[in-house]
Amino acid sequence: RFMAETASILNPHKTVLLPEPSAGCALAEMATAEQVRRKREEAPSDTAVVCYVNSTAQVKAEADVCCTSANAVEVVEALPQRHILFVPDRNLGSYVAEKTGKDIIPWDGYCYVHDPNVSTSAVGELKRLHPHADVMVHPECNAAVRRHADFVGSTSQMLRYAAESDNQEFIVGTEEGFVHPLHERNPRKQFYSTGSVCSSMRLITLGSIRHALDRMTNVVEVPEDIRERATGALERMLSL
Ligand code: SF4
Repeated sequence: RFMAETASILNPHKTVLLPEPSAGCALAEMATAEQVRRKREEAPSDTAVVCYVNSTAQVKAEADVCCTSANAVEVVEALPQRHILFVPDRNLGSYVAEKTGKDIIPWDGYCYVHDPNVSTSAVGELKRLHPHADVMVHPECNAAVRRHADFVGSTSQMLRYAAESDNQEFIVGTEEGFVHPLHERNPRKQFYSTGSVCSSMRLITLGSIRHALDRMTNVVEVPEDIRERATGALERMLSL
């Protein structure tokens, strides 16, 4: 849902369909606008609110700036503030803290697909079976898993890493479906998934897409006041 909302926020004159209305995001649902407002009030006065795009439109509307997993470090580094309220993913927040040295005020949200389902034991078992494989994990994985990795990055960064690496084998710590584009772009290389599945993503099927297109149903609507404020946070990300 958050991707459909973001597409709608940035393209207010276009029709955006969400093929399966119940396809939400467990991580996005771990922060509400009210909680963010309260936490901002409690934070030091020079605090910026940085919102991962895997969040609701209402939470984006409370943020000073949005970020993706690919640009979170650069976005936080570019901000003048020392204190950062980073919502809603605690692991991406701790990864950004490690990389930037800034004071990240933690938010206790997490994506179960990456934490705990990409675990040190799952990665360790694959490494035992494929000792020469490089381990690539997403920064939504917890710090213990990240420490086992040869590479930590977003899906676009993992695609680039796999393509540019001389290695022929990779252990992949993110949603299982991501091994398909990796295979497509690197047909001679081997990719071993930790087998972590997002049940929400799996709700979107070819059938549900066709159904939504045939009937033009399940149009995503973002209230105008929310859209305007969320656009500001998204545009600030693009300008940094
Ligand atoms: S994998 Fe699923 S639960 Fe996790 S952030 Fe993505 S959509 Fe949300």
